[in-house]
Amino acid sequence: MSDCIFCKIANKEIDSNLIYEDESVVAFSDINPQAPTHILVVPKKHIGSINDFQEVDKDLAAHILVDVVPKLVKDLKIDESGYRVVINTGEEGGQTVPHLHVHLLGGRKMTWPPG
Ligand code: AMP
Ligand code: ZN
Repeated sequence: MSDCIFCKIANKEIDSNLIYEDESVVAFSDINPQAPTHILVVPKKHIGSINDFQEVDKDLAAHILVDVVPKLVKDLKIDESGYRVVINTGEEGGQTVPHLHVHLLGGRKMTWPPG
């Protein structure tokens, strides 16, 4: 999508602090971190939100949760201490960037419920 900020980051049209990249995903530091570790895992393909997932995206969704997040939390050494994985969806879900992204937060004690 031409005017999507996360598409532009994935295409390297906008700089980011890139942490990880493979053929289908990029991960980069959140520009406004809410925890000592705050990474966004973003599919290169433009998907607006969970609402827009299609059958064809099943492997991508599994790849993020089964491969990418576990690798990142081990690399960042927060796998044992704990972390939070969040996908804000839609207006009441707090989504501000309309390109699906997985927040990975760690390095501090999280509270519940989230605000
Ligand atoms: P959400 O509110 O769940 O849609 O999350 C969007 C996130 O993207 C927020 O945490 C922002 O701080 C972050 N963000 C927005 N623009 C950028 C950017 N250019 N680079 C890194 N993170 C960004
Ligand atoms: Zn996009």
